[in-house]
Amino acid sequence: MKTAPDRVHPLWDEFCRHLNSVSSLVELSDLKDKYLGRKRGLISLELRKLGALSPQERPAAGHELNELKKRVEKLLSQRTGEFKEKERLRKLEMEGIDVTLPGYAFAPSAIHPLRRVWKEMEEIFVRMGFAVVSGPEVESDYYNFEALNIPKGHPARDDQDTLYLSENLVLRTHTSPVQIRTMENQKPPIRIIVPGRVYRRDAVDATHTPMFHQIEGLLVDEGISLADLKGTLEVFFKVLFSPDTRVRLRPSYFPFVEPGAELDISCIFCAGGGCRVCKKSGWIEILGAGMVHPRILERVGYDPEKYTGFAWGMGIDRIALLKYQVNDLRLFFENDVRFLRQF
Ligand SMILES: [Zn+2]
Repeated sequence: MKTAPDRVHPLWDEFCRHLNSVSSLVELSDLKDKYLGRKRGLISLELRKLGALSPQERPAAGHELNELKKRVEKLLSQRTGEFKEKERLRKLEMEGIDVTLPGYAFAPSAIHPLRRVWKEMEEIFVRMGFAVVSGPEVESDYYNFEALNIPKGHPARDDQDTLYLSENLVLRTHTSPVQIRTMENQKPPIRIIVPGRVYRRDAVDATHTPMFHQIEGLLVDEGISLADLKGTLEVFFKVLFSPDTRVRLRPSYFPFVEPGAELDISCIFCAGGGCRVCKKSGWIEILGAGMVHPRILERVGYDPEKYTGFAWGMGIDRIALLKYQVNDLRLFFENDVRFLRQF
């Protein structure tokens, strides 16, 4: 920091020393205050002393001080620029990308086969105009049983092998409680599907696990008949499996539908000719369904003379077994990567 003035004010050397020890913009700003601050700045104080000098001394001293002030200002602004540039370069370096570094290794992952089938089924129904609805997995006895025409002591409760959390709380044994919850809160027309987990106290084997997945469906409107149920599910299975798939209804009993039915699809492996999977029958049992019981419609405040509806419940896991030709349900839940990698 060499300078070549004719007469240098003693503050100049002191300022230069200070400036050399400054290492940040904050310190630089402090230094500026120390010398140029309007009230207590060292140069400002010197300038104020000029008034006490004799008229002969004053011009030279004034000139000297003004020169000093100019130089100090110039150096400060220069140094500020340098610090800012340094900071800019530092940021660039931090944010910069070194293209010569080796890349990251990403572990490949995939969607679980059950989730994949779930999504696929959901999308088909959504395209048909159904809304996707969910409900609690911990359910009250009322919604899981009572409201669905399964009062205490009803033999249908035995079929369900319920996992009770307390006297009135269960892990839901089917997705059907969401039918009631939806109808209580909405006026017809209703057109929903309810995919989700359900729980039963089953011993684990190739076709049973204590937790599995269902897709419930419910449609309520004026003039809905069993033919609508059959047509809706026929379209669904044609899209899901193949356009050749046929469906048939067989009479059955579920407490919350009247009439109740089981729906079979033509065997997707032998096209109805008879094979090991369909036990030579040409048909595969796939789901339970029926027309919503008038008593249930009444209970949620719908007029059963005006509105009718159909409902079904089907196992997502069962569809996945068929679709991927897997013969053991447990494989889906064991998280064996060698199995999962095949999908
Ligand atoms: Zn077959």
